Amino acid sequence: MLSPFEVGGKTFRNRVIMGSMHTGLEDKLEDAPKLAEFFRERAEGGVAAIVTGGYPPVLEGNLTPFGQPFNSQEIADAHRQVTEATHAGGALAILQLLHAGRYGYHPMAVSASASQSPITPFPARELSDEEVRATIKAYGEAAKYAKDAGYDGVQIMGSEGYLINQFLAERTNQRTDDWGGSAEKRMRFPIEIVKAVRAAVPEDFVIDYRISVLDLVEGGQTQEEIHELARQLQDAGVDMFSSGIGWHEAQVPTIVTSVPRGAFAWATAELREVVDVPVVIANRINTPQVAEQLLDGSFNPEGGEARTGGEPFGEFVSLARPMLADAEFVNRAAAGEAELINHCIACNQACLDHTFTNERATCLVNPRAGYETELKLLPTRTTKRVGIIGAGVAGLFGAEALAERGHHVEIFEASDKVGGQFQLAMRIPGKEEFVEALKNVQARLAKREVPIHLGSPRTPEELLEAGFDEVVVASGVTPRIPEFPGLAEALRGEVDGVSAMTYAELLSREKEAGKNVAVIGAGGIGYDVTEFLVEDRGGQPQSIREWNEQWGVTTDPEARANLTRPNPPQPLRKVTMLQRKITRMGRGLGKTTGWVHRAAVAMAGVEQIVGVTYEKLDSEGLHITVPAQDIKELQKALSKAKKAKDTEELARLETAIREERKELVIPVDTVVLCTGQESVRPDQADGTSEGVEQKVHIVGGADVAAELDAKRAIRQAVELAARL
Ligand code: NAP
Ligand code: SF4
Repeated sequence: MLSPFEVGGKTFRNRVIMGSMHTGLEDKLEDAPKLAEFFRERAEGGVAAIVTGGYPPVLEGNLTPFGQPFNSQEIADAHRQVTEATHAGGALAILQLLHAGRYGYHPMAVSASASQSPITPFPARELSDEEVRATIKAYGEAAKYAKDAGYDGVQIMGSEGYLINQFLAERTNQRTDDWGGSAEKRMRFPIEIVKAVRAAVPEDFVIDYRISVLDLVEGGQTQEEIHELARQLQDAGVDMFSSGIGWHEAQVPTIVTSVPRGAFAWATAELREVVDVPVVIANRINTPQVAEQLLDGSFNPEGGEARTGGEPFGEFVSLARPMLADAEFVNRAAAGEAELINHCIACNQACLDHTFTNERATCLVNPRAGYETELKLLPTRTTKRVGIIGAGVAGLFGAEALAERGHHVEIFEASDKVGGQFQLAMRIPGKEEFVEALKNVQARLAKREVPIHLGSPRTPEELLEAGFDEVVVASGVTPRIPEFPGLAEALRGEVDGVSAMTYAELLSREKEAGKNVAVIGAGGIGYDVTEFLVEDRGGQPQSIREWNEQWGVTTDPEARANLTRPNPPQPLRKVTMLQRKITRMGRGLGKTTGWVHRAAVAMAGVEQIVGVTYEKLDSEGLHITVPAQDIKELQKALSKAKKAKDTEELARLETAIREERKELVIPVDTVVLCTGQESVRPDQADGTSEGVEQKVHIVGGADVAAELDAKRAIRQAVELAARL
């Protein structure tokens, strides 16, 4: 991983490339200084090259209405500070050219043929032959501007379902002119682009083509077509191939935390067999160990133990989100301190979920990412003793930030474990990465000699009396217990044949679920718990083979888009999810991850009931009432009345929902409560005791339990640390 490699006349100092990410700092020229600092930190952190977020060669190729096409001297001039900062850190700078095609979130969207993607509300019109040729020319001009801005190369974005993919696949290209009608003609668009770029830039300017090694959408390309394309692109002048996996509209997850590490490396290895230029492996590579195994060939594509005698899967690895989580990823690996790396948990909560809602991308475990010029952890001028109550993630990451600034920090945790809600999350199938994140932050705290006192409940008063200058209360949350007849008795084990438990009791294995379970509350934790109930793997990650089988991914070179019939495992239990709201379930889940949870639960045959009132729990099971009318009809009528702002109709529907109800009994043996949380604070932690209010700071779930969220908790703790 640390050995250098020559590509197209440029020396990459090692094999780690920071993959392209759209941070939101690309869209305005005045944000260029922030982008420069973001890249400088990562270049100084040791990566060989940094690929920018995507810039379109023409205006209609924008991802959002306000993007910046890379087609003017003004933008080339503004980017000089970005390339200089990257070079100052010792890395190469590569500009990504991305034409969004029908993924453009604006009314100017264009595509190979007129169509609308399932993930945008805007229909795209078909490009004319003349416009296709002009677009190709624009790629060449954009590459020239990139060279002028100081970039060492460009990455032509040919994957993830953007315009180039749209030309390549029958799914989106129904043209009958020079640009469609046969696989050969569909390939012309990218080949002409590469030729135009090659003709516009010198020989030592790197052309990296990000090729879709797996389309994973119906009507996508086969492996044979992809390999033929690669051969022709290489002849047209490509210096290296980066791997892209799956279109954004694919129904197969490609980067969420439940995708096994290195799950798609096999497809890059197959590409490597057919080309002579270096290839870059991507997706779900988040530790130096996995990177090293992929590069030396010891990675086992079946999952499990390393293999011997295997061929490398590629010459480079591309890591994107792990570089948000830890700019020092490569330096730490090089120093033999991989255990200190701030571990990306592949949650998407602060990066991709932000990008897709037009917020600046940052990182759940590193709130400084993208905010390098704004959230600074400067050395303190007055060293203080800071006591932290609670070793959940807010306490741990807050302690690290305080210690980095030079404060003397100690953590006091009432229980016998660190991690708080993370301890529970890491038991969910597919969330095994959380274990690493906890181990790594503890290793960094140990290196900074921050003591963590377990089994040590403390109040702020006690810590202030013991000589601490400041106290941070990060004591977290406790599960909320709703009230309805029979529940309290069932929680105490006093109802024959039915037990009730909180999600915390279930996940910590304090209590065991039976075979027929009702999950009350369908927020993020309701979904997590349901997945745990149907597929408890005892904390073991799924193997790549099992995962491929579950999601219907095949390595068959002739299978269109490498798709086959999904074959999910048999669910362990019968589960019914319930919520009081009448809206469709799972709407509040993460923008880029929610669909995966909804699909996993649907595959397991989980029943979902909305509009529920909980009446009682007894030996027969859970007694509920639900609206008498058909729920789907009610949802439609409500949404229509809301849109039309028809208050009379809304009132009528609400009365009907409230008053016209039918009774149901769900014959369950177990009820699991996933009904949100309430703050936990040690006595006097509200800071009302005389004289302490200035010195006691409440963060995370202890501050606000509603919509409890590790992203907010960690950011709040780190921002506090920057101020203290
Ligand atoms: P949540 O999202 O607030 O969901 C709890 C649900 O329980 C509510 O939606 C509510 O729905 C129901 N509820 C609340 N009070 C109730 C009561 N007294 N009686 C009956 N039902 C009640 O909380 P969560 O699921 O614990 O998640 C907490 C946070 O963790 C989320 O905000 C999220 O940020 C994070 N998280 C996210 C994920 C993910 O995205 N995959 C996973 C885990 C955690 P009804 O009122 O409609 O019944
Ligand atoms: Fe990784 Fe989550 Fe941070 Fe994104 S927000 S970089 S997925 S840890």
